[in-house]
Amino acid sequence: MKYIFGPVPSRRLGRSLGIDPIPSKTCNYQCIYCQLGKTNNFTNTRENFFPKDDIIAEMDKAIKLNKERFDYLTFVGSGEPTLYKDLKDLILQAKKISKKPSKFKKSYNLGIYLHWSRTSSCLSDAFP
Ligand code: SF4
Repeated sequence: MKYIFGPVPSRRLGRSLGIDPIPSKTCNYQCIYCQLGKTNNFTNTRENFFPKDDIIAEMDKAIKLNKERFDYLTFVGSGEPTLYKDLKDLILQAKKISKKPSKFKKSYNLGIYLHWSRTSSCLSDAFP
């Protein structure tokens, strides 16, 4: 699968099924400790890097395939997941398909904070 990985063990979440909607090392920050290496697409512009329908189709397949084998869906992966423009739609769809809680990586950096605030308001419908 191109956009889904796992389930992988997570200390905080138990078993996590990962959804990665971002191309490799696309981020609005360049942390020196980043486990992914140097950011090669340094951007603060939100866009749909991959077709939303393709991600949803894979998500649907992976969730049905793994049914009881994961505890959480996690939006995380090759970069900053909140840069995906229609992340809210992905989250709503994930919730609809799985009936499980969904988490997305929260950004810790001040460099992302403003962007994060904007993103949070974009996502508020997804977390009533
Ligand atoms: S915000 Fe995350 S993905 Fe981006 S450079 Fe820092 S650690 Fe890496």
